[in-house]
Amino acid sequence: MASVQVARLEKVYGSFKAIHGVSFTIEDGQFVALVGPSGCGKSTILRMIAGLEDITAGVVKIGDRVINHVEPKKRDIAMVFQNYALYPHMTVAENMGFSLRLRGVAKDEIRQHVAEAARILGLQDHLERFPRQLSGGQRQRVAMGRAIVRAPQVFLFDEPLSNLDAKLRVAMRAELKTLHQKLRTTTIYVTHDQIEAMTMADQVVVMRDGIVEQIGGPLDLYDRPANLFVAGFIGSPSMNFLHGAIEASADGADFVLPDGHRLPLGGDLSGSARPGPAVYGIRPEHLEVDGSGGVPTRVDVVEPMGSDTQVIGHIGETPVTAICRRRVPVRPGEVIGVRADPEHAHLFDPETGLRL
Ligand code: ATP
Repeated sequence: MASVQVARLEKVYGSFKAIHGVSFTIEDGQFVALVGPSGCGKSTILRMIAGLEDITAGVVKIGDRVINHVEPKKRDIAMVFQNYALYPHMTVAENMGFSLRLRGVAKDEIRQHVAEAARILGLQDHLERFPRQLSGGQRQRVAMGRAIVRAPQVFLFDEPLSNLDAKLRVAMRAELKTLHQKLRTTTIYVTHDQIEAMTMADQVVVMRDGIVEQIGGPLDLYDRPANLFVAGFIGSPSMNFLHGAIEASADGADFVLPDGHRLPLGGDLSGSARPGPAVYGIRPEHLEVDGSGGVPTRVDVVEPMGSDTQVIGHIGETPVTAICRRRVPVRPGEVIGVRADPEHAHLFDPETGLRL
């Protein structure tokens, strides 16, 4: 196992700069997710670490070794792709042992490593099958088995679950996390799915347009997003954003909507917020549907989920979503009162998008 350090990394394709000086450090044994919308450059970074793409500028280190010019197969990493890339004419055992065979490892030793990986992944009964005789989830496990038998210093995963159906993805998510808890191999996991990133990773690197927007633990990102992009990207349904202004009030400051409705600010914000235009962010679970008072909200859709109810509507022209942990007797077309929990409000600068 080893740490991975990426410093001032840049990638230029022809005249297009895809990565603009990205830096982050992954501690030995950590599970880090690179997450961001399509095209933000996360696969490019992974491919540069793997050696599948030249590095335009910057440094990649594994442990103490700069690997910019080290051949991919000498970097001591194993990569798992979205499409599994299994050899169709080889059995599960042959697929898993292939890299060891190439290295000239003795047959008995290969058999032992394959058996151990198969045990960890629950593939013992499928070792003689061919990939076509397996389900999608089993194939993905074989692809992971192939990475495990190599006992690399670092695992690189590029959207490994995106070919699986929703239910299997959730199950495999838990399997991968358990696997990491067992092996503790340093892992970099690329995904566009913020829920995968949040649920699996120790640290999340949020990217957009070739730059890092924020790095932090999943709940740090959720509780204290550094800017509007991260606030909107992390969390599902997304945070609600209301435009307005901060104004002084008797007990500190309030956030005032264009129609004059006031939203109180919690202790921290009330003391520090400066008067002026701002964006008020509030997560759906921190908006309470309240029959008597609150901000008038027109209800468009009510989604009963069993455990909770999602109410989708508008405050003025702004779409909002509230999640209630109970069943609420509201109907589409109604105007209801909605209250925001002031202790969970976020404020952002409307010009820079930065957290205030
Ligand atoms: P996705 O989730 O869609 O895979 P991503 O975040 O992994 O997206 P990358 O594949 O890293 O994004 O691509 C980053 C940017 O670089 C994109 O704008 C992409 O079009 C561009 N790009 C990637 N590979 C090449 C290439 N070989 N030549 C030119 N441009 C490229």
